Amino acid sequence: EHTVKYDDKHRISRGDIVVGRILGEGFFGEVHEGVYKSPSGERTRVAIKTCKDCSAEVKEKFLSEADLMKNLDHPHIVRLIGVIEVDPVWIVMELYEHGELGNYLVEQQYILTTAQLTQYCLQICKALAYLEGLNMVHRDIAVRNVLVASAECVKLGDFGLSRYIDEQEYYKASVSRLPIKWMAPESINFRRFTSASDVWMFGVCVWEIFSMAQQPFFWLENGQVINQLESGVRLQKPQTCPPTIYGLLTRCWAYEPHSRPTFGELVRSFSEIHKMELEQ
Ligand code: ADP
Repeated sequence: EHTVKYDDKHRISRGDIVVGRILGEGFFGEVHEGVYKSPSGERTRVAIKTCKDCSAEVKEKFLSEADLMKNLDHPHIVRLIGVIEVDPVWIVMELYEHGELGNYLVEQQYILTTAQLTQYCLQICKALAYLEGLNMVHRDIAVRNVLVASAECVKLGDFGLSRYIDEQEYYKASVSRLPIKWMAPESINFRRFTSASDVWMFGVCVWEIFSMAQQPFFWLENGQVINQLESGVRLQKPQTCPPTIYGLLTRCWAYEPHSRPTFGELVRSFSEIHKMELEQ
């Protein structure tokens, strides 16, 4: 695994941050809103992740997400602004004021158009094609992990489960905090995670988007999911999902990982569909 020390670019000082209200509860501790003043005097609204019971061991896990994010630079991936490594440890990210895509879909369900929803899918897909090119697997693709910057722009976030993988290899997971209902059969059965299993999860995330953030397989227990998948059952087409997009989803949910499209291919397909929707 890659462990890179923080470069100067991401070392910021606490004195340049004004902490505001609590945005939400993260896995490691509270997430606050705030403002960061850069050395050049520019002010940016930020989200500040804190770490509550930060022993040396927990601290390493907490910072591993920031460690991965500092190497990423993409218009549809959450941007890391900096890290404060001395206690209390903070991870500072760009703020996306509309919050989680899951909540946004519920709030805006009567306003969002098919073209907008398709655009979100395309943007997430582009972020994942970028990760695929870096041999990185995300492993937790779901609307709860996508943030909304504006009505026209979403950002993939939450790299807490992400890992670099060597080509032809895969990350063998040991954690039990796994999102079973989003996972590919080989991930459930063998804890096998690759870009192809990310493609499966992306398909489930697209299903969530067109279902206005319903939970996939909410009618099943986690333990029942793998049997259903192995007997060929798949998520049904959400009412508002265009048939062309559902056609792509069924390919993302091919049982054999190598039969699924790549993110590169999916970007081309979603771009075409989005273009046609705008022309209508
Ligand atoms: P964790 O992954 O550690 O569990 P999350 O990333 O889920 O923490 O963050 C917890 C809450 O903070 C979420 O509800 C999310 O809405 C909010 N949040 C996190 N990062 C941002 C951000 N960059 N912009 C806006 N809200 C954020």
